Amino acid sequence: MLEDSYRHKGLRKKLVEEIGSMGITDKKVLDAMNAVPRHYFLTSAFLEFAYNNKAFQIGEDQTISHPYTVGLQSSLLQIEPGMKVLEIGTGSGYQCAVLCELGAKVYSIERHRPLHINSKKLLEKMGYKPYLSYGDGFKGLPAFAPFDRILFTCAVPKLPDTLLMQLKPGGILVMPFGEGDIQKMMAIKEQEDGSFTTTYHGDFSFVPMLEKRAAKK
Ligand code: SAH
Repeated sequence: MLEDSYRHKGLRKKLVEEIGSMGITDKKVLDAMNAVPRHYFLTSAFLEFAYNNKAFQIGEDQTISHPYTVGLQSSLLQIEPGMKVLEIGTGSGYQCAVLCELGAKVYSIERHRPLHINSKKLLEKMGYKPYLSYGDGFKGLPAFAPFDRILFTCAVPKLPDTLLMQLKPGGILVMPFGEGDIQKMMAIKEQEDGSFTTTYHGDFSFVPMLEKRAAKK
């Protein structure tokens, strides 16, 4: 049973105000985060803490991103309704729901089958209609390319040429980039002439992007 009580709504409003005061000023992003009940995406052990500004385990040794990080990545993407957005790392499905609330047509890839299945069930139940794929994000989704926006929610160890090729001219790719424990948040914009410009947005610590589908357990 999914229940979004007054208490949950109140806690969520406070959390959204907190990330606003941390520098996320895009009203559309804050509204979208206010609209998505984050507690639906956490296992019961963490329910109490759904509205703390923290990352939590979501199974398979993976984590749901910090709300601040979701706010920042969503802002950097500058999404307009109707845009095609590719997300690498569906995880719990929370970021995917926020992108759907922003009006994007979302495509999301996850390499852990149990996470793929759980997020699919939950997002369907919530009435969102993303295209969810179980596979290796390094390959992207060539059949649905090109995308207006591409978002990595896992740390990217090397510049993904295959993915850059799936980005539209004028498109934006956002990723935490780097091999170690700490990555730099990068927004890469493809100019109409095919050249790229990069901006940096602080240090983060994401779970690493791993190749291929995870082995079945
Ligand atoms: N966006 C998620 C965050 C999940 S953490 C959320 O809102 O909950 C990052 C996710 O990336 C993990 O679920 C991990 O399994 C996934 N991942 C790692 N490498 C991947 C790859 N090569 N392809 C697809 N997903 C990958």
